[in-house]
Amino acid sequence: MVRLNEIRLNEVAVDAPAPVDAGLVFIGRIRTPWTSRLECPRQGRADGPLCRIEVAPPWDAALDGIEAFERIEVLYWLHQSRRDLVRQSPADDGATRGTFAIRSPVRPNPIGTSIASLAGREGSVLLVRGLDCLDGTPLLDLKPDRCLFTPIAPPQPGDFETG
Ligand code: SAM
Repeated sequence: MVRLNEIRLNEVAVDAPAPVDAGLVFIGRIRTPWTSRLECPRQGRADGPLCRIEVAPPWDAALDGIEAFERIEVLYWLHQSRRDLVRQSPADDGATRGTFAIRSPVRPNPIGTSIASLAGREGSVLLVRGLDCLDGTPLLDLKPDRCLFTPIAPPQPGDFETG
């Protein structure tokens, strides 16, 4: 059941407020084999096809050091998604769940995240596996996988707070 932009049985759309400009900048584009949502994986897989993350200037300068990480977190803007559903029916069977209880691309802010394995770097292009987005999807951010990353800055009091 792949959604293009239709509303399904029992789904609930709202009159979504106009977007506020959060000042986001797209820092590049993601190149994948998929040109249709009917073909995209639901979630990327570590042994999936090689994809290219093209980081645009001046942000390519920010890639320094990224090769040290076997896996990176990729954040992207699912630009073809509708943004007004609060209940969705992933199986299109009339059973619905709240948007924040699922990982559907349809969200008020259609941000997708994947942990991708970093297979290589060619200048401003990262070669990765593990993505699930359409060819041409705008890139929002890249970070080392949090499981591989140890903060470099000194700890702060809040780091020791529990309970
Ligand atoms: N891995 C991300 C996550 O969990 O945040 C995204 C998961 S989302 C279920 C992946 C689906 O989003 C794909 O199967 C495809 O149907 C859809 N999709 C991919 N790229 C898109 C785009 N640029 N705009 C709208 N929908 C997209």
